[in-house]
Amino acid sequence: MKWRIAINSQCNFCGQDEDYLHYFMSCPYLKEFWVKIQQILKKSNIENFVTLKHIVFGYRIFDKDYFDFNYFLTILGFSIYKAYYVSQQKTKQVNIYSLFVREYITRISQVQKLQNSKLLAKIRENIEM
Ligand SMILES: [Zn+2]
Repeated sequence: MKWRIAINSQCNFCGQDEDYLHYFMSCPYLKEFWVKIQQILKKSNIENFVTLKHIVFGYRIFDKDYFDFNYFLTILGFSIYKAYYVSQQKTKQVNIYSLFVREYITRISQVQKLQNSKLLAKIRENIEM
């Protein structure tokens, strides 16, 4: 699957120039979503680890102790991608936070290796349904 991020083009939602920072973090469309995610991270004691670099490249990806956290980052990035993609197919903007919650709960329950992750369980507790 290709990440259809057209560099040097305009954002479909707000019309601003689009780059990776805009696409994943700074678009006004994502503002409310990121506020909620930051609250969840704060409650889970994992602040300041989610930056554009970490969304794109992961966090200490060669350290298996961070496998679960990297899985979380992947779901975050994928949810943003999916929200844009779905929104472009439809005329209405999707609720990206609800989309993320659905993805998160579905995916962590599907991967055996993640079942015993305390970090992911804690994030799950802090997600407001
Ligand atoms: Zn935008």
